[in-house]
Formats: sequence, C-alpha cells, structure tokens
Amino acid sequence: MTALVDARPASPADALVCRNCGARYPLGAQHACFECFGPLEIGYDPVALASVTRADIEAGPHSIWRYSGLLPVGQSTDTRVDSGTGMTPLIRADRLADELGFSAPIWIKDDSANPTHSFKDRVVSVAITAARELGFERIACASTGNLANSVAAHATRIGMPYIVFVPSDLEPAKIVQTAIYDGTLVGIEGNYDDVNRLCSELSETDEFEKTGFVNVNVRPYYAEGSKTLGFEVAEQLGWRLPPQVVAPMASGSMLTKIHKAFKELRAAGLVAEAECRVFGAQSAGCSPIATAYEQGWDVVQPVRPTGIAKSLNIGNPADGPYALDVVRSTGGAMAAVSDDEIRAGIRLLARTTGVFAETAGGVTVAVLKKLIESGRIDPSAETVVYNTGDGLKTLDAVAEGARPTAVIKPTIKGMRDVGLL
Ligand SMILES: *Cc1c(COP(=O)(O)O)cnc(C)c1O
Ligand SMILES: [Zn+2]
Repeated sequence: MTALVDARPASPADALVCRNCGARYPLGAQHACFECFGPLEIGYDPVALASVTRADIEAGPHSIWRYSGLLPVGQSTDTRVDSGTGMTPLIRADRLADELGFSAPIWIKDDSANPTHSFKDRVVSVAITAARELGFERIACASTGNLANSVAAHATRIGMPYIVFVPSDLEPAKIVQTAIYDGTLVGIEGNYDDVNRLCSELSETDEFEKTGFVNVNVRPYYAEGSKTLGFEVAEQLGWRLPPQVVAPMASGSMLTKIHKAFKELRAAGLVAEAECRVFGAQSAGCSPIATAYEQGWDVVQPVRPTGIAKSLNIGNPADGPYALDVVRSTGGAMAAVSDDEIRAGIRLLARTTGVFAETAGGVTVAVLKKLIESGRIDPSAETVVYNTGDGLKTLDAVAEGARPTAVIKPTIKGMRDVGLL
C-alpha cells in the first residue's frame, strides 16, 4: 500500500453516530443505522474540537466557512462551496422589545440576508461540499421551496448537474427562483411528505446511485450546516450564549443543531458554561411537533399540512422527537399560531425593525408574542429570534392590505386632495 501524503487540513469529524442506539459507523453517505434504523449524525473528535480557538475563527473568511474547524467537510478551499453564506446581521430590536413588554434585549438573527434569501444556504453549502468530497456526480433534494432555491443556485455555481423535487403548489416566487436556472425542477402532485418519500425511493435506484440527495443520503452532513446559526450568534454576542432562543421548525432539524452548536462551543471552551433555553415555533396548519409538546407525547403524530407557512409544511417531521428533547431538556416551550397571527407577526416585525420576513419568520415572531402572553418565556432574559427567510419569497401572504397610502397626480393639489398636505 502506498501512503499518500495528504496536505489538506484534517476534518474534526470522526464517525457517523446513531442518535438512537449510539452505534458508530465510518464517515460516508449513510443516513440510517443498520442496527436500529435510527438517524445518524456526525460525531467529532473532542480533541480536534478543543484545538479550535476564537482567534482561528476570527481570522477566517466572512462566511460560515470561518467555522470549518467545527464542521465535517470543507477544510480545504478546493472542495468548499463558498457563496458568501452566513455572517448575517444580528439586529438589536429595541422597538420590538418595547412593544412586547420585554425588559431585556431581543435580537433578530436575520438569515434573509443569505445569497438565496433563506437559511437553507447554510445547509446546502455544507451538503454540496460533502457531496463533492464523497464523489457524487449529481445533486438532488426534496424541498418545501427554499431548499430547492438554494440547491439550484449552488449547484449551478459549481457546474454540477442537479434535479430538485417540490410540491407543485408552492409560492410562485419559489418556483421562479428555482426554474430560472438550467437544471431540472420537478413539481410533484402531492405534499412535501409525498415528495420526500419519492426521493427516498429514488435514492435506492441504480439510476440515482451517483446522486447525492442533500436531505436524504447526505442528510447527516446537511444538518451540520445549521450549527453555524448557533456559532454566529455566540460570536456576534461577543463569544457568549444567549439565555433564550426562538426558532421555527419544519423537520425540527435546524432547532436541534442550534442546540448542538451551543453544546460544542461549550465543550470546545469557546464560550463559558451557560444554559440556553430553546423555544420552537410552528404554524397551526402544520404543528405535529408543537402538538406533541402540548400533549406531553414523546412520539410525533404525522399530520396533513395546510396553511400559508409552506416552507415549514412538513407533516411527518424526521427530527420531531429530537426537537422535543431539546426543548424539554433546556426548559423551553413550543407553540403554534394561526395564519392570521402569522400575517400579524410579519407586520409586527416589519413595522418595529424594518425586517420583512417570509411566512416562517411571521410564525416565529407570532410564537414569541404568544409565549410572552402565556408567561412561558422570560421577558427579562435576552432572547435571539431566528428569521429564516425573506418576505419577497411569500408576497401573496401579505399583499392584500400592503398597498400605497394614496395614488395621486404629481401636483400639490393632488397631495391636498388626499389629505397628505
Ligand atoms: C427549512 C426551513 C426551516 C427549518 O427547517 P427544519 O426542517 O426544521 O430544519 C426554517 N425556516 C425556513 C424558512 C426554512 O426554509
Ligand atoms: Zn442505531
């Protein structure tokens, strides 16, 4: 055997670990445990994690890749897919805090500022980098909309062929934002759970052997991208954890990885020991995880999704039980809000902070309000609220009632006639 000299920095990841039974597997394109069929996640060498310093991170690029020492792939710039994702603004929202009766600061982590205008650029950057390193030749995904936008853009950038699958009844902006690129977009007559099931079946076929489905066979890598939402908030707060965070849930993956990021930062000694209570937000049209929370269940009963928060419409959420664990073990809570409350949440955030969120952001802000009113979140503890997508993606949800104050002739009289002078 010839020993190859590998000059690339080593990955701190050392195994795939079953989240149910703890079985360990070599790193690769595997997503379920052979022993118990449980989902796998990336395990790290604690020594490697502990060797990462704040100075290393601060000297890195102004993107999620500054955290490459805490991610499974992308240590080398020749495989890394870097579209400038991450380091999105953390906005102090004093007028929102005042209106909600918060005495501590509320911060909006505004992930609409990513290249394709949603948080999905984080998971896609890591998943496509992993797909390249694992030798896949094509990229695919099952999407509720934002993931399709991001996969299409990132695959296009590196010239990798792709095929993405979405429910055919998505918001027009999300269809256009994917179809504008040259790859293959398949609309499925069904909901996300139907799309996801089809993708699982396709990933087992010979024709798809060289295709990496970012959220199916590459899912353990994909999910790690969400950790950067936790890393950035800690760094932006001056290397400390916020006492409370509120995050939207579709499959529940993102919420669990924000928590994993905080754990890893503590373990690596990059932040002081501190607890962070994690709160989860869903829409009433699709609230299987929040319902299980309210009912005190450990299992999540699948539902048939409805309602305007389409990016969160996953009726059978893969990470639901893990999201329940995180929220319960940290002393957080979950809640669900109606479509009218979501619209009001979008307006409340816009009118107090200038941030225009998509429906998922409306869900999160409306849930924050509900948690305050029900006394389940502490208004004297600093809180980070994740806005995960841009309002331009879901204009129809609020277009009615968002019109010019007046339309007039270009004259002084015109202004007088409508009472603006
Ligand atoms: C995908 C998505 C989420 C979170 O999804 P999870 O499946 O829970 O990780 C949140 N907000 C938006 C806008 C999304 O597109
Ligand atoms: Zn297992």
